[in-house]
Amino acid sequence: MGRGGQFRKVSVMDQRDAAARDLQASPSNDLRILCIWALVGCCACLLAGLLLDRTLAGPTAPTARTYAVLPEASDRIRSYFTQRNLLYVGGTVWFLVGLYACIRFRLADRALRLSGVLVRHRFLAACVVWVALATFVALWTLPPAIISTAIERSFGLSTIGPGLWTADRLRDWALDLIWAPLIGGAWLLIHRSPERWWLWLGLGLVPVGIAMTLVVPVVVDPMYNAYAPLRNERLRSAIRTMATKAGLHDPVVLESVRSSRTTKANAYVTGIGPTHRVVIWDTTLRRLPDEQVAAIAAHELGHYRYHHIWWGLGLYTIGGFVVLKVLHSTMPRLVRVLGGAGLDDPRSIPVAYLGLTIVLMIQTPAAAGISRVMERQADAYGLALCGDGDATARAFASFSKTDLAHPDPPRALVLWYYTHPPLRERVARALAFDDIRSRAGNPSGLHVNGLPH
Ligand SMILES: [Zn+2]
Repeated sequence: MGRGGQFRKVSVMDQRDAAARDLQASPSNDLRILCIWALVGCCACLLAGLLLDRTLAGPTAPTARTYAVLPEASDRIRSYFTQRNLLYVGGTVWFLVGLYACIRFRLADRALRLSGVLVRHRFLAACVVWVALATFVALWTLPPAIISTAIERSFGLSTIGPGLWTADRLRDWALDLIWAPLIGGAWLLIHRSPERWWLWLGLGLVPVGIAMTLVVPVVVDPMYNAYAPLRNERLRSAIRTMATKAGLHDPVVLESVRSSRTTKANAYVTGIGPTHRVVIWDTTLRRLPDEQVAAIAAHELGHYRYHHIWWGLGLYTIGGFVVLKVLHSTMPRLVRVLGGAGLDDPRSIPVAYLGLTIVLMIQTPAAAGISRVMERQADAYGLALCGDGDATARAFASFSKTDLAHPDPPRALVLWYYTHPPLRERVARALAFDDIRSRAGNPSGLHVNGLPH
């Protein structure tokens, strides 16, 4: 009797433990925990963006002159801004719904059945699932891409024809397929080292990141656009003079043909080592006077001088480890919530892709905050280098005409995803630079703010 009672007691306790475990591992509990972590992650990244905005910001109160150079947003700018942001939100929701549909309708299972590849051939199975997923994503994202081009066209910003538009989509899809062997390797790693895969994969991402940064400017970018050395002799000589003052040895400055796609203006710095270069779009060269293009080039030389590409690579490495560790910790719960095989099964690739998309969305404010810090550094350096606050201010202000950029976007949106400070702030800072310089009696501009020269 006593023994029987003891057994019954143990049995009841076992049942309670099992029930507690079941409850802990139940999909609804997993979903609740994932939502709490997503919320905590969002708040932490927003706070990081907010704190980063306080570094290097300084006083930027706009004056009457700021508004004379950069007027308030016109109705056209506001309308474009609204449509783009609605598409951003709608496109994001559409993308997440598509990935969810992929998981619910077992795209991975169907792809494997169709190809005849067995799940236990993990590498090959992961390649097949990735090709199916990349193809689905390419097709699923066609409607937002069409709407995006329609918006650009309706505002007179797009010049792309249907042939080039289709070729761009095909190129994007083909480049996504190239990742298949890496995805296959990743799933082998997840299977062989279930506890440490995030660490090995993070280490593997370092050479991949360096190789991509090195190769993309000379292999991938020319697949889309034509590049040539800057033809404008006067401008080239002005940029070279600035580069020498900045201590840079003959940086590569290229012009890129973008007028076959857009009327927007832009410039950027890319590559590392032998592929490091400043690229100015032909639309910028056509639409802006030389002194304003020089001011933009000075900003890009600032990125060059501060080694922002290397900083970007370093942060990408650290961020990569963090994202992979977060995925390592959360993926088992997400797999349980959405149903399906374990994480090491190649059929879980769509779930992992959804998880990665959500984690990358959550980290957006932190990444954007870091980018804004770098842009402010480049702005300050560019101003000191070219020494022309007025031309710099007018160059920044021109983006509200050429790109219909909103001069005063809502603070919440800036915090969420703006990679550059708002135009009003940039113009105000550039105009203030001239005032500070004239007060300091430093016409060259090159020793202002203690910046290197
Ligand atoms: Zn920049």
